Amino acid sequence: MTDKVHVIGGGLAGSEAAWQLAQKGVPVVLHEMRPVRPTEAHKTDALAELVCSNSFRSDDWETNAVGLLHEEMRRAGSLIMTAADQNKLPAGGALAVDRDAFAGDVTAALAAHASIEIERGEIAGLPPADWDSVIVATGPLTSPALARAVQSHTGEAELAFFDAIAPIVHFETIDMDICWRQSRYDKVGPGGSGADYINCPLDKDQYDAFIDALLAAEKTAFKDFESTPYFEGCLPIEVMAERGRDTLRYGPMKPVGLTDPHRPDVKPYAVVQLRQDNALGTLWNMVGFQTKLRHGEQVRVFRMIPGLGHAEFARLGGLHRNTFLNSPKLLDESLRLKADPRLRFAGQITGVEGYVESAAIGLLAGRFAAAERLGLSASPPPPTTALGALLAHITGGHVSADEGTARSFQPMNVNFGLFPPISVPRQPRGKGPRSGKSFERKRAMANRALADLDRWLSTPTSVAAE
Ligand SMILES: Cc1cc2nc3c(=O)[nH]c(=O)nc-3n(C[C@H](O)[C@H](O)[C@H](O)COP(=O)(O)OP(=O)(O)OC[C@H]3O[C@@H](n4cnc5c(N)ncnc54)[C@H](O)[C@@H]3O)c2cc1C
Repeated sequence: MTDKVHVIGGGLAGSEAAWQLAQKGVPVVLHEMRPVRPTEAHKTDALAELVCSNSFRSDDWETNAVGLLHEEMRRAGSLIMTAADQNKLPAGGALAVDRDAFAGDVTAALAAHASIEIERGEIAGLPPADWDSVIVATGPLTSPALARAVQSHTGEAELAFFDAIAPIVHFETIDMDICWRQSRYDKVGPGGSGADYINCPLDKDQYDAFIDALLAAEKTAFKDFESTPYFEGCLPIEVMAERGRDTLRYGPMKPVGLTDPHRPDVKPYAVVQLRQDNALGTLWNMVGFQTKLRHGEQVRVFRMIPGLGHAEFARLGGLHRNTFLNSPKLLDESLRLKADPRLRFAGQITGVEGYVESAAIGLLAGRFAAAERLGLSASPPPPTTALGALLAHITGGHVSADEGTARSFQPMNVNFGLFPPISVPRQPRGKGPRSGKSFERKRAMANRALADLDRWLSTPTSVAAE
């Protein structure tokens, strides 16, 4: 008989991973600590409980990367997507669900599966040595005892308990007639060219208007259990601005070591820098711009920055209680801990963000663990698919300019900026969101993704040479 795989955490990722394993005939023990031990956010003992919103976001696979991820997961036999579709509520283009019926269906399907055993109780340390295949899917609120054990196993700095997210901009929406590429003092640095940053210049009036808008903008509040996680090196920009009008000009917006080639005679009063965030060069993060501003306010205020007037954001900033690994450094391409391959990770703890993305990484972890148990090879999904692009982000696609010093990997939702670019023929001008070049580009990427996914799903897995 095939040996059991242990899945720790019966949330979005763990439930999907257990389902994928069981559907391949691999027996699973799913360990969920609720109701024996609660978390600060869950309210029930149901598996796959949605802790906050009841929305899986856009269901439009042609123009939205999360909608595409829904469709790919459906094609890969996802339990989470089946339960979501069975319990959907009217919500325009979004997939919203009846949360209790959704979680009830997931719990019932897992409980009824002949290959799944559900054990209620906390795994309060590293899994016993005789569990030779484990998926850790304990989420943003991983219990402290397990988190401490993982942290001492991976290294103090490699597991974070808060995220500090700076916004990320799609490169093609940055106005390079205003911005320019240059590293401070043209420093080349490891792997650099001396022109690694994109710089946005502000004059005094623009800086003053920006600071005023920042100070007046609406902020989000921390939840009760999220005691304020500010570290001096990582303050939200609005907190820095509150400390003095010039604090940002002497901090992340300092204008030194930079010359604007569009106006070489004018010294900028302040400069916002963007740093490349993925290997493809399609995404750029705003350096030092971690923030608690409301999302709508971020778009409004950050578009005041010269060169970002039409910026489209792949991710907006935030600071939250979280638990996530420095995955690009620690995990291999099948989500195993390089230093201890019996342990695989899945869900939000790998550095993805959101219900759907967490479940998607659970789906992949389940398939990888099943292939390994069955002696089959498991190739990762192509990077042109939403599943593959998300996996590449957490296991290798992220670029860290600070490699070897500070970690810069931060959680991310799926978005088209993670996909390899695609060229589309020039489009006639159209009206509305479903016309024009951006729409055609997303549609082309989505069609490429589904064709590549279907090929990947239909490829017969081969027996690995042991
Ligand atoms: C307060 C809050 C609000 C959020 N709101 C949203 C939102 O509106 N939309 C959205 O898309 N995402 C939201 N998220 C993110 C959301 O948590 C994740 O997207 C998703 O639930 C993560 O899935 P997961 O499976 O990784 O973790 P979870 O769904 O949290 O599942 C982890 C499971 O592991 C269990 N567990 C933890 N430690 C142990 C242990 N040691 N032993 C056994 N079991 C254990 C937990 O009880 C839990 O059931 C929110 C997160 C938080 C914390």
